[in-house]
Amino acid sequence: MQFTNQVFTLSKQLFKKAKSFPKVHLALAGTLTAVSVFVAAMLPSQDVEATRNQVQLIKPAETAATVAPAARVETVEKVVKLPAVDTQEALSTPDLVSVPDTPAEQAINWQEFKVRSGDNLTKIFKRAGLNARDVYQVSQSDKEKLLTRIRPGQILELAINAGELERLRLVKNKLESVEFIHNGDSYDLNTIERTPEIKTHFVSGDIQNSLYLGAQRAGLSDKKIMELAQIFGWDIDFALDIRKGDQFRVLYEEKYLDGKKIGEGNILAAEFTNNGDTFAAVRYTDSTGDTNYFTPDGRSMRKAFLRSPVDFRRISSGFKPQRHHPVLGIKRPHRGTDYAAKTGTPIKASGDGKVIWRGTKGGYGRTVILQHGGNITTLYAHMSKYNSKVTSGTRVKQGQTIGYVGMSGTATGPHLHYEFRVNGVHKNPMTVKLPVAQPIPKKQLARFKAQTSQLVAELQMKAIEQLAEIGSDNNNG
Ligand SMILES: [Zn+2]
Repeated sequence: MQFTNQVFTLSKQLFKKAKSFPKVHLALAGTLTAVSVFVAAMLPSQDVEATRNQVQLIKPAETAATVAPAARVETVEKVVKLPAVDTQEALSTPDLVSVPDTPAEQAINWQEFKVRSGDNLTKIFKRAGLNARDVYQVSQSDKEKLLTRIRPGQILELAINAGELERLRLVKNKLESVEFIHNGDSYDLNTIERTPEIKTHFVSGDIQNSLYLGAQRAGLSDKKIMELAQIFGWDIDFALDIRKGDQFRVLYEEKYLDGKKIGEGNILAAEFTNNGDTFAAVRYTDSTGDTNYFTPDGRSMRKAFLRSPVDFRRISSGFKPQRHHPVLGIKRPHRGTDYAAKTGTPIKASGDGKVIWRGTKGGYGRTVILQHGGNITTLYAHMSKYNSKVTSGTRVKQGQTIGYVGMSGTATGPHLHYEFRVNGVHKNPMTVKLPVAQPIPKKQLARFKAQTSQLVAELQMKAIEQLAEIGSDNNNG
């Protein structure tokens, strides 16, 4: 396909143009084919020059639907038609929903009545100029007694034609209404369910001081920030690993109704570049309906251990956490990681395991040691107190609170001292290779690729668009 080749060339140009960008873009080369197919799909009738000119622009048609204020934010319709046969399956993602058009209603003259405090159907009908017979007929048809449960603020829509109540519509919520349609002496009920239109939304940003602030500035909601941290939290210690200049890219769903954003959906694909290393994740629902995040080549993002046993939002130190560092000329070797946090901050078990020590242990103060599978133990020191339910011999789950930050033992301030040992040998908790959850089985790999490659391509395409912006900025000096 000639078009694809052109895009490929364009992508390569962009690729050359940018002088300094993180490793991930090297991976772009590998995904260019997918990207090209995607571009072909997105722009079936436009030529490449047009593409090049447009990449800096937020297209006018999309602007109205764009909500977040960040500059590098775009909303794109998700439904695309692919010409290639073998990619058809990629479109059958169950999450993608097309919205049925609302039926034509030109002929119906709707009047809106807001339910007031102390209202009932009789009062509302009276305001609308209807009579007791209308109330009776509607009430008789209302087998579920929906209209006796109306609440102040709810909307009743009435269609009155020549003094006759033709239709009544009770708006239950944004997505569900019940319509009463006049039929002789009674009314037929019809439930109208609306499906929100799902659009994918791309947000990217970099980090100046913290993931939270950086992501917030880019327009991500608190919920999305937490989800992002959860997806990558197995690989990245968001409490201590974060560096100024770290970058993230997120592709997620937004729900729209009548052109208005009514909510957010799932994160579909994301990338996080931490200290030059890029991690990518894509959402996948398997044939049994189980949903998880995987690397684009099908390895699970989940690990047997959390990278950090303390919630990143609770860490008091920023980019220069107060931790001892064996390389920095500390005389006594420091064999763990210190997390400075307020006294009382919950400490989480980093993996499933069994408590083999709970008690005071010299300079460690109040200490819990967990025994995990694979001859791994983790140690948590300087606690202010233990979780009373966690005693020696207790089995704990990953993420379960086992105690609280303090400064018992030898400590100059409240912090968690965390150690990770494999076969009794201390490992750096921040860099130790953690055992991973099951990857996508080989038999399901084709299905996985079909469902996720387009998402990865879309995310990468956005990355290319951004490089184009950066490239043009450079050219302009
Ligand atoms: Zn320490």
